[in-house]
Amino acid sequence: MRHMSVIVGFCCLVLSSISALGSPAASIQAALLAPGKHHLNVLIQAADQTTEIPVTVVTGSQPGPTLLVLAGIHGSEYAPILASHRFGVQLDAEGIRGSILIVHIANPPAFRGRSIYTSPADGLNLNRLFPGKASGSLSQKIAFFLTNDIYPLADAVLDVHSGDANEDLKPAWTGFYATAGSATVIEQSRALAFAFGFKHVVPFQWTFSERKDAIWAGSAAVALGIPAIDVESGGMGVPETEAVEAILEGFHRTLAHLGMTDQTFSPPKGQIIIYDRESVKAPQDGSWVSLKEAGKAVKSGELLGILTDWHGRTVFEARSPKDGILLLRLSAPPVREGETLVIVASTESVR
Ligand SMILES: [Zn+2]
Repeated sequence: MRHMSVIVGFCCLVLSSISALGSPAASIQAALLAPGKHHLNVLIQAADQTTEIPVTVVTGSQPGPTLLVLAGIHGSEYAPILASHRFGVQLDAEGIRGSILIVHIANPPAFRGRSIYTSPADGLNLNRLFPGKASGSLSQKIAFFLTNDIYPLADAVLDVHSGDANEDLKPAWTGFYATAGSATVIEQSRALAFAFGFKHVVPFQWTFSERKDAIWAGSAAVALGIPAIDVESGGMGVPETEAVEAILEGFHRTLAHLGMTDQTFSPPKGQIIIYDRESVKAPQDGSWVSLKEAGKAVKSGELLGILTDWHGRTVFEARSPKDGILLLRLSAPPVREGETLVIVASTESVR
């Protein structure tokens, strides 16, 4: 049975009749039908490992769409996780049309293990494993659970990230798949990306021909025909207040955009498209010395950092491939061959 190894636990706010239903999909569906706030812990079990994913379901007293907020796909990206906590605590079911499903920490082993990119449970990067596997490692089973049990309940998905704990990412941006999915999904995703309110928006140019090729969390939603965006704010393992609050405001803006609340916001002004992201990769393992903060303007050929060997001798100079904005830099020294050291992008004002 598909849900044999996945069990849902509940806190006191959920009716006992819901917890008796068994499978997580049925339990979450039941929470979506019961107005109020529900705190669930979804147990995922692999062969010899388990983890519990904390999910808050806020079901409004009036009908409306279901918004899925997904945080903690990467466990050391803290601003999204903290913003999701504050969002869940703040929300009052009374004023809401529809429901909000908040996955606070999608990858608990990575969060609790303070690891970057991959999970200490199986060494895999959850954001490369969608649509997941029914019988796989813990990370593969998390991806399968999200794709099969959570996504189909949602009318829109916000997959929220930061730069990882070794990455400096600025400015904050939202991204949407501009060339994948139906025209309707692309337009709805585009509208979500702008409505979130960040100044910078990235139209992803990636595409995928089959569901199995949609390996990223957001793309797996698009592959199911659900509008989705990627949100990126914060980084370097710092639970930055400014990044947390920016994400939180974006959540509330999204509710207003979807007609789920009556809150009003002034429309974002001067939004900017980020395009043609170009990266410089490490030619070998080494120790990285970054020379410029993310978010700064850079010139073609400008020295952005050096890679040294284990004795501190320079083996590579990372220079900007073009004029643009330094969107991301590795901020911590350890680097593996092939890893992205910096990303430089072009920008264009849209309105
Ligand atoms: Zn991430």
